[in-house]
Amino acid sequence: MPTGEVKDVDIVRSACRPCPLCGSEAVEVVMSCTDHFVSGETFPVCACKSCGFHFTGGVPADGEMGRYYQSCDYISHSDTSRGLVNKAYHLVRWFMLREKSGLVSHFTGKRHGRVLDYGAGTGYFANRMKQVGWEAEAVEPGDAARAFAFAHFGIKMRVPDDLTGFAPGSFDCVTLWHVLEHISDLHDKMDCFSRLLSADGLLVLALPNRTSYDARHYGNAWAAWDVPRHLWHFAPSDVLRLGKAHGFSLVEMLPMHFDAFYISMMSEKGRGARLPLLRGLAVGTAALMRTMANKERSSSLIYVMKKK
Ligand SMILES: [Zn+2]
Repeated sequence: MPTGEVKDVDIVRSACRPCPLCGSEAVEVVMSCTDHFVSGETFPVCACKSCGFHFTGGVPADGEMGRYYQSCDYISHSDTSRGLVNKAYHLVRWFMLREKSGLVSHFTGKRHGRVLDYGAGTGYFANRMKQVGWEAEAVEPGDAARAFAFAHFGIKMRVPDDLTGFAPGSFDCVTLWHVLEHISDLHDKMDCFSRLLSADGLLVLALPNRTSYDARHYGNAWAAWDVPRHLWHFAPSDVLRLGKAHGFSLVEMLPMHFDAFYISMMSEKGRGARLPLLRGLAVGTAALMRTMANKERSSSLIYVMKKK
């Protein structure tokens, strides 16, 4: 369990919901985390005493979450190249797009198929899949991101409500690249993805790993807590339980080596350290060494799952 001093947690926000994975109401606040990217506000991270799952407490209602995504520094949805961290991010993104498209082709065993990218951001992955010969559908709730994808790639992305318009078994693969941790209706969406996949279809989830080396190193300053945008904080065993509850079994778990560097730099920046890039590189290197020995220490993991 990550460490982090519990203090200054807003009374209203300290009320944790029942555990979304096992339903237990035996839940405790284990740390408080600050939103360094957008609001500067502090939120509790809660842990289930029964199964150990971690999740953000005191989360704003869905209708109020939009303002927590509005920042030039929240680069998941932006396309700026300012600053060293952003430049490195964009270089890694170029490399990772190739890795991700290769992964989908490899594990589906298909050179051409139908993929749904849910939470597609600005559409880079959907565009990459089209470039390599796949039919790609993309769903993205953000208006600005959808407009970007249309302007730059000519991709007409859909909104989440449009999912009901797809026939069952429509896709060979559904991908969520660092998205599931943002989704409030976790179980409904998992059922929906299962319905949309063909009988031998694959669900690919990329998620931060709260049991990673860097998560333990930074405690409550770990940037990938990313409250309140990250609602759920998964350990590998949590993802397997969630998958099993919705009829999925694990095919492969793969480490994402670059994320430790990026998250470590952002963690250093968030806690106001001097020379955050150098410090982040040092911690990222240490994390990479640990991950080489044990992939479950990786900052983020890709889970390839199939319907049972
Ligand atoms: Zn639980």
